[in-house]
Amino acid sequence: LFITLEGPDGSGKTTQVAKVADYLSKKNINFIQTREPGGTRISDKIRSLILDPEHKEMHDLTEVLLYAASRAQHVHEKIIPALEAGKVVICDRFVDASLAYQGFGLGVGEEPVMQVNNIATGGLVPDRSYFVDVSPQVGRERMKARYGTASLDRIEQKDFTYHERVREGFEHIFSKQSDRIVRVNGEQDHETVFKEIAKDLDQLLAN
Ligand code: C5P
Ligand code: MG
Repeated sequence: LFITLEGPDGSGKTTQVAKVADYLSKKNINFIQTREPGGTRISDKIRSLILDPEHKEMHDLTEVLLYAASRAQHVHEKIIPALEAGKVVICDRFVDASLAYQGFGLGVGEEPVMQVNNIATGGLVPDRSYFVDVSPQVGRERMKARYGTASLDRIEQKDFTYHERVREGFEHIFSKQSDRIVRVNGEQDHETVFKEIAKDLDQLLAN
């Protein structure tokens, strides 16, 4: 069972990933928790390269390909072996994030991002993706409160219109794939958000 959490920056999805992991532990379910960009030694190095605020000259296509390279390593080194061993994989972000951020945010487009990612993942698609949704305004306010403006990464630092496009991107992707995606309102408190996720997760685990 391959589960991903998606959402804009400041949506609280990382908090939810931790809660899901906690929940699975308590149920004695064999799982791994991982994240993107990153998840392996090599993928984490690529993450630093992508997010370095000094890399302002990074070309959009370089960014697309670096995310895909990071993901290829992650999928083949970690995710597929875990799934083959019968584990549940819970992952903070996956291909949907690239569609939203690079496809829509940067404006590279859905098709090229999908093509590159199909190569990177060999067509691996999550069984369930939780879309933790917040407005770009709320997301931005939460990020500011959490880190202060100075320590935002290269992507988080992008202007407000970029983050609006990302949010629209997520909505667009998820409106087309309603059987895989469960949208939860991320503007509620963390416990309420988690209850909604857990309700669906219980059904998934029962099957
Ligand atoms: O999920 P997390 O906040 O750790 O992601 C790190 C950064 O990478 C964020 O700024 C996020 O916006 C960005 N990102 C991206 N494209 C992706 C995945 C993450 O721009 N495909
Ligand atoms: Mg973030």
